[in-house]
Amino acid sequence: MTQEVTGTFAELGLHPSILAALTAVGYEEPSPIQSQAIPVILAGHDMIGQAQTGTGKTAAFALPILSKIDPAKRELQALILAPTRELALQVATAFETYSKQMPGLNVVAVYGGAPMGPQLKAIRMGAQVIVATPGRLVDHLSRNDQLLSTISHLVLDEADEMLKLGFMDDLEVIFQAMPASRQSVLFSATLPASIRTIAEKHLREPKHIKIAAKTQTVSLIEQAHLMVHADQKVQAVSRLLEVEEFDALIAFVRTKQATLDLASALEAKGYKVAALNGDIAQNQRERVIESLKDGRLDIVVATDVAARGIDVPRITHVLNVDMPYDPESYVHRIGRTGRAGRVGRALLLVTPRERRMLQVIERVTGQKVAEVRLPNAQQVLDARIKKLTNSLAPLVADAEASHGELLDRLVADIGCSPRALAAALLRKATNGQSLNLADVEREQPLVPTVSAPRERRERDGERSGEFTPRERRAPVPLAEGRARCRTALGTRDGIAAKNLLGAILNEGGLAREAIGRIQIRETFSLIELPEEGLDRLLGKLKDTRVAGKALKLRRYRED
Ligand code: ADP
Ligand code: MG
Repeated sequence: MTQEVTGTFAELGLHPSILAALTAVGYEEPSPIQSQAIPVILAGHDMIGQAQTGTGKTAAFALPILSKIDPAKRELQALILAPTRELALQVATAFETYSKQMPGLNVVAVYGGAPMGPQLKAIRMGAQVIVATPGRLVDHLSRNDQLLSTISHLVLDEADEMLKLGFMDDLEVIFQAMPASRQSVLFSATLPASIRTIAEKHLREPKHIKIAAKTQTVSLIEQAHLMVHADQKVQAVSRLLEVEEFDALIAFVRTKQATLDLASALEAKGYKVAALNGDIAQNQRERVIESLKDGRLDIVVATDVAARGIDVPRITHVLNVDMPYDPESYVHRIGRTGRAGRVGRALLLVTPRERRMLQVIERVTGQKVAEVRLPNAQQVLDARIKKLTNSLAPLVADAEASHGELLDRLVADIGCSPRALAAALLRKATNGQSLNLADVEREQPLVPTVSAPRERRERDGERSGEFTPRERRAPVPLAEGRARCRTALGTRDGIAAKNLLGAILNEGGLAREAIGRIQIRETFSLIELPEEGLDRLLGKLKDTRVAGKALKLRRYRED
């Protein structure tokens, strides 16, 4: 008989009631960390498990521990320590799910920020599993030092995170409060020296299990990057959101302020979006995550810290608006999608200065992150029409039965053609949205891309392109009657296309249509203006200042 490498949950020796619960949740086969860890834990060994986020660590310890617990004994038998309240609740929920077919099994979650009374009561009612954050557990121990005297299984989940959060001393107190005969299991994404020290001191001949990090976490995630200028990110994001078909999306930025800024920019565009950052109270955070789960929100804009541990299967897209600080956090971030075996998509915005970081990420993950281009106005328009089509198509089948008579009557009352009426209804239904190319182009101003190869751009006929040294030599041909002008202000001066445009429209008295393509670079910008009357215009703009600096617009001579 041949044995499959991964095998089945049944072959791992789990309790039949656990297997029944697994069938109910729909797990088909154990993940690699599960097939390795479960037999070791069932056999009673201490263990150190090293694996990245999203590899299924919770079930790797929850399933064997539940299999070993006696639900008839109404005392604490297993303690799971988790770094944050959010993670503790997640683990507690997982234990409840996996023990659905174990009558009499109770799980209690113990964490800070909630009253201690109900937690104590739940323990006294005969819970067998306690999931706790270290700080709050130590508070409970200070009132009752016998609380953990019956524990036979201990799990430290995300041990590296716990130490980062400064729980070392609390862990020592907790270790002392448990019987030495207990089984101890430690899970961690990384094994720094501090973790090894703990393991040497408190684990007994632990077995090591390590799941290779790289492809494990990212294999189900389609990755791509886009080159953009730092000051064009919001526009880039809004274009991307138009064409990406996402269910739920998480956008990562570096600062609290950026979470608020991007969230309000997207809210203004009608998205159901919330910001998540370290300043947001724990219970509010949980509400945001719940809303993302059940569809009241579709987008969360988060910092790395605030997004830690988010597990929402609906997340189809991770959008890295700001570059992560290191490749590990990149892997962590994109692990928010591609959950539970689904395919996810991860997009990374890269500014010219950040190219090197992109290379580092590619090296560490062992995967190429392909470049894609920002959608142009035509693609935005196509996506909008497709959405409209998809929303109307299902109604066509029976709308005539329900609303046909009304239509006839309105056509008669108004005295118009059905086509005219349908068009009016469309205008109303789309609520002022731009649905022709000229309008979309006007609404979504220039987003100069940075590095798509020139040949491809020309083939696709995109108007707003990069400005490479090569292009400087052979610049994009000017439209008839236009002249190109240059200013020494650029992104490093905090200039965006809209600032230039605003200044020239206001002080030059031009119409929007008179202004052509604008290219903003780090140390200079180019703008196309009408040849006719150019000298007079430049005279008018002689003293104009933009972002506090002299504009000094000049004719640009290509040579
Ligand atoms: P980790 O702790 O390693 O980050 P989790 O334990 O939170 O990962 O699991 C990640 C996701 O994978 C969860 O949504 C979980 O329900 C799902 N999952 C875990 N094991 C399996 C499995 N064997 N089959 C399908 N989905 C699974
Ligand atoms: Mg986990």
